[in-house]
Amino acid sequence: MMAAIAAQKEGGQVTLVEKNEKLGKKLYITGKGRCNVSNDADTQGLIRNIPHNGRFLFSAFESFSPQDLCALLHANGCDTVVERGQRVFPASNKASDVTKALEKAMLGAKILLHTQVADLILDGSQVKGVALSNGKTLSCDAVIIATGGLSYPSTGSTGDGYFFAQSCGHTVTDTSPALVPINLRDAWAKSLQGLTLKNVRLTAMTGKKRLFSEQGELLFTHFGISGPLVLSLSSYLVGIQGKIDLFLDLKPALTVEKLLDRLQREVDANPRQELHTLMQGYLPRTMAALFPDLCDIDAKKAIGTLSLAQRRAIAQTLKKLSLTFDGVRSFSEAVITSGGVCTKEINPSTMESKLIQNLYFAGEVIDVDALTGGFNLQIAFSTGYKAGKSAATINFKENK
Ligand SMILES: Cc1cc2nc3c(=O)[nH]c(=O)nc-3n(C[C@H](O)[C@H](O)[C@H](O)COP(=O)(O)OP(=O)(O)OC[C@H]3O[C@@H](n4cnc5c(N)ncnc54)[C@H](O)[C@@H]3O)c2cc1C
Repeated sequence: MMAAIAAQKEGGQVTLVEKNEKLGKKLYITGKGRCNVSNDADTQGLIRNIPHNGRFLFSAFESFSPQDLCALLHANGCDTVVERGQRVFPASNKASDVTKALEKAMLGAKILLHTQVADLILDGSQVKGVALSNGKTLSCDAVIIATGGLSYPSTGSTGDGYFFAQSCGHTVTDTSPALVPINLRDAWAKSLQGLTLKNVRLTAMTGKKRLFSEQGELLFTHFGISGPLVLSLSSYLVGIQGKIDLFLDLKPALTVEKLLDRLQREVDANPRQELHTLMQGYLPRTMAALFPDLCDIDAKKAIGTLSLAQRRAIAQTLKKLSLTFDGVRSFSEAVITSGGVCTKEINPSTMESKLIQNLYFAGEVIDVDALTGGFNLQIAFSTGYKAGKSAATINFKENK
């Protein structure tokens, strides 16, 4: 949609081909229906939140920034607000208002819904049009592939763009689910399904190498863990071959020594208290009940009878609780796809293919992926704008 808007603005005659019954189906479910449409960061701030190939996007962000996006949405009836972490949302809190504004900005473009592109039509190393799955063809001077990735395939992103790219010689780097929940082997963790922990620190290591260590919110589920912290972590696990060890710091503000001092004071004050009751002062009730077991201590043990080694085990487990990683969830639960059309084969100043003339790429189909916070949509908008604007330097022609 953004590519269409930019191309129209440059005087291009645009045909947007969408296989769904409506435009922007994925947009409706973004940000839990509120659509975290962008992040009000500067270019460097945006790139810092893009673990893979962020530098490739420099020119796209400079050409079409989050502020440009907000101005465009505002001009088309959708005001925006900036929230915690510079996240930008529509003021109405409705993702549908973003789609409406984009549709309004696109006025004049021809939209073919329920229409699927099946293939590219090439003439040597130049694209000449697309073949549709209904047997028709569209001839044109430029084609922009903005088919998304593989995540949430029910919204229409089924990886078709990777096929188109590969069919004309492009490299598609390995794709994997990213910003995705994580499976754990630990039965105790699954039994905590529904429990949210705030302000905990999650660390991932492979051997001695620290892959990730951040503080935030984590949710236990029937399969393992999810929530913002876990989704961010998943982006740093892409392509890691070795064993991954996960640790949870349940008390990031306190050291082991401080925890031991606090335990000592509590033992002195109430030595007959049972351990599981004491733990309720440290953890939510459901977790407090099973925590002594994780330290190999009887939950009903009077705290006055705890040995020093046992107290140390409690403090150390609070600071470094092991979670047993068992892979990430599938594409159907992933917010985005990591991997895609190789950035080395795309001109970052135009989004044009370096292999096929007049072929452009925009959005998640490219091998770029960001953390949560509105960055992924801004990537789609900035690259879409760049591709649309560049492609429209040639006039579109349509011929059914
Ligand atoms: C649950 C969820 C929540 C999210 N929340 C946020 C958020 O709040 N903020 C954020 O920044 N990002 C969020 N994202 C990520 C963001 O939605 C995507 O990164 C973004 O939509 C990618 O845009 P795109 O245009 O590249 O691809 P898509 O939005 O996937 O659009 C691709 C379109 O191409 C169409 N298409 C595909 N193949 C063909 C074909 N052969 N012929 C015709 N049409 C075709 C599809 O039907 C689809 O409409 C979220 C993702 C999910 C799954």
